[in-house]
Amino acid sequence: MHRLGVVGWPVAHSRSPAMHNAALAELGLGDWHYQRLPLPPDVFDETVRRLPEMGFVGVNVTIPHKEAALALADTASDAARAIGAANTLTFSASGSIAADNTDAPGLLAALPESPAGRTALVFGAGGSARAVVWALREAGAAEVQVWNRTPERAAAIAAAFGVRHVAEPHSAEILVNCTSVGLGGEPLDALPVGDLLADASTVVDLVYHDGGTALTAAAADHGCVTVDGSEILVQQGALSLAQWTGRAVPLAAMRAAVR
Ligand code: NAP
Repeated sequence: MHRLGVVGWPVAHSRSPAMHNAALAELGLGDWHYQRLPLPPDVFDETVRRLPEMGFVGVNVTIPHKEAALALADTASDAARAIGAANTLTFSASGSIAADNTDAPGLLAALPESPAGRTALVFGAGGSARAVVWALREAGAAEVQVWNRTPERAAAIAAAFGVRHVAEPHSAEILVNCTSVGLGGEPLDALPVGDLLADASTVVDLVYHDGGTALTAAAADHGCVTVDGSEILVQQGALSLAQWTGRAVPLAAMRAAVR
């Protein structure tokens, strides 16, 4: 048995097992299985180090372990190192651990077109915002503004990645919500969206809900192309699964399982 999983705390809500197991079935990999691994922070290191001997090929890592995952790995990709967090660990036959971050390329893969030369505005300054800001900057966005409810955190990201933090955002072509606004049904006015939707062409919400979020609904009303968080989940998961299996991943099966 080749074992895969998602490590988090909590992780009960994760749609990754359904998504990955649908892909493994489609690929005919009957001896592979992907499972939830709920691990509290105090046992994260010791447990992850033992996963290879238990038959694990790799794991995804989610809240709150992404920084710990990078720290524990023997090697790390440039993306994981630059972002300061890993969402994908791959175990070699000898048990060494390689870290990568597929959140950043997953965001780029989910965008309808390249952000090169375009202006972008990111809401949020948590872990996902770090990956998104790095991805947009690396992909050649002409400008990346960062706004956050707690301005000091936006300033820290801006300093780390050489972009601009703003108290009052101005128009941008691509808007990306990396806050948890929308997850618990918070009103959209928790974000300074104001008139920005009128000038935006693409709006991405990392939050996902069956039926869409208030942000993607408002953006669609303004004629924007919208990308919801389930597509980002699919794209980052597909990049992880391709690393572990070495196979081209069936995106349609993954999308169907998530939605
Ligand atoms: P995080 O590190 O905990 O950061 C949370 C962010 O949300 C912070 O910027 C925080 O601002 C902001 N925030 C929380 N409540 C707010 C409110 N009421 N009004 C305004 N801002 C608020 O979380 P994360 O890992 O970056 O994840 C952020 C969201 O993206 C989560 O909802 C998560 O589920 C989603 N996500 C989705 C995917 C995917 O694959 N689709 C991947 C990663 C994350 P402060 O700094 O002011 O607290």
